Amino acid sequence: MTDRKTQLAANLAKVEDRIAAACAAAGRGRDEVTLIVVTKTYPASDVRILSELGVRHVAENKDQDAAPKAAECSDLPLVWHFVGQLQTNKVRSVVRYADVVQSVDRSRLVTALSKEAARVGREVGCLIQVALDAEEGAREERGGVGPGGIEELADLVADSPGLRLDGLMTVAPLAGPYAGRRRAAFERLMDLSTHLRRAHPAANMVSAGMSADLEEAVAVGATHVRVGTAVLGVRPRLG
Ligand SMILES: *Cc1c(COP(=O)(O)O)cnc(C)c1O
Repeated sequence: MTDRKTQLAANLAKVEDRIAAACAAAGRGRDEVTLIVVTKTYPASDVRILSELGVRHVAENKDQDAAPKAAECSDLPLVWHFVGQLQTNKVRSVVRYADVVQSVDRSRLVTALSKEAARVGREVGCLIQVALDAEEGAREERGGVGPGGIEELADLVADSPGLRLDGLMTVAPLAGPYAGRRRAAFERLMDLSTHLRRAHPAANMVSAGMSADLEEAVAVGATHVRVGTAVLGVRPRLG
């Protein structure tokens, strides 16, 4: 193995141990949690190695980096998640490679995604990104809609050609009532998911937890964790 492959394999094994331990502690089966490796800022060669090591889900947050990487890796059996703030002028590009967009937070974006997905004949999974520090249905700076805005967006996604409503996503908030209370934040997301599933039973994905807090997310019921740093290393630049 190359040095990089040895390193990524060791990091992946550690993350796998953490997920398995968190599942065991919560009385959950390991198969209830899917690892998504966030490959943003890292090269396509790393994505290829991760695929060789058995990773099946990767995530990116900037179209200008993700589009060429996804093209270089189009031969690999990967599910691509888009987790960054998405401008409508990037939708056309993102829909070419993204299987799931986790950062759906406004109706204009839903309309643009639907139009493009239908045009190219793809089905794009959508998670509503919830901003737990924006209680009034307003959008938050880092993206996301307040809890009060979930229902309307979810109904719109569910009614939009080319789109599939998959569930909810959040990033633990840095401000507001949940700042520094990650477990409470993820519990709130789970409650919102329970409510969402009454109207949309198939929308059962709950994407929460990153390198620093995946245990808290798995403990309360997250179905997908998004892990970057713990697998690939500290990112060379902000992203
Ligand atoms: C970068 C990123 C992650 C991964 O964060 P790490 O702390 O590196 O594990 C997860 N989710 C989103 C939305 C991200 O942008």
